[in-house]
Amino acid sequence: MMPPICYICQKRFLEGGKLIYFLETDDDKMQRKRMEDYKMVGHPSNAFWFCDEHSSEAVKHSNETKIIALPKIKEFYK
Ligand SMILES: [Zn+2]
Repeated sequence: MMPPICYICQKRFLEGGKLIYFLETDDDKMQRKRMEDYKMVGHPSNAFWFCDEHSSEAVKHSNETKIIALPKIKEFYK
């Protein structure tokens, strides 16, 4: 698993924060399938950490792919 570092502020946190799963892109699906096939454990390519301060906006975009959602979340907190 990736260490919990907020995607927005790069803050490393030991408690709190949220791992947000975005809608899978075709690429994410392929990666997940590959991991399942090889019984590998890894960080899902569509999941990103957000600290408590930044997760509320990220949650709102979890029904979008990371390609759409991440720039919007970044823009929101600029
Ligand atoms: Zn943050």
